Amino acid sequence: MAYRGANPITAPTPMGHEYCGIVEEIGREVRSVKPGQFVIGSFFASDNTCPDCRAGYQSGCQHAEFVGGAQAPRLRVPLADGTLVATSDVPSMDLIPNLLALSDVMGTGRFAADAASVKHGKTVVVVGDGAVGLLGVLSAKRMGAERIIAMSRHPAPSTAGATGWLSNSSRHDGRRCSLPHWRATQRIALNGVLRRL
Ligand SMILES: [Zn+2]
Repeated sequence: MAYRGANPITAPTPMGHEYCGIVEEIGREVRSVKPGQFVIGSFFASDNTCPDCRAGYQSGCQHAEFVGGAQAPRLRVPLADGTLVATSDVPSMDLIPNLLALSDVMGTGRFAADAASVKHGKTVVVVGDGAVGLLGVLSAKRMGAERIIAMSRHPAPSTAGATGWLSNSSRHDGRRCSLPHWRATQRIALNGVLRRL
């Protein structure tokens, strides 16, 4: 909403769409979580019951609502039954940053790897090494990919387990894939989406 000042902000506005925390209160129709539980939620609330959700595309839920303003003391989460996942216990403070990543970037990276049908022994390419891209690399590794090539704008990227990387700047050198190899890739996509080779 305030990305690089592109949109004027006329009033104090909490930012952020990543969240996890303790449930303080629930609505009358909520059944799956209760006060006192630690929960993690997606930045797109979903009912988890419509045909799109049933097909595994909760981000395309027919009743989806964006959950923004999460960097605040309290947050109202719609469609709580379909959106929130409770942990078995209240986690220790040191785990919370990791759990917070599940609210957005880890889920997005994993979704990309899943959508690209990453399988054991496959080679994958991840375009971009921001938070989502790096967690796409991590997801591909966990799903058994044998070769993972990360595309980066940085000369010495944090690869999160990638087996090779390719900079989009010719000035960079390092553990890059050779250009002929890169040209041999068959399918790529932008914005952290993975594709099979
Ligand atoms: Zn749905």
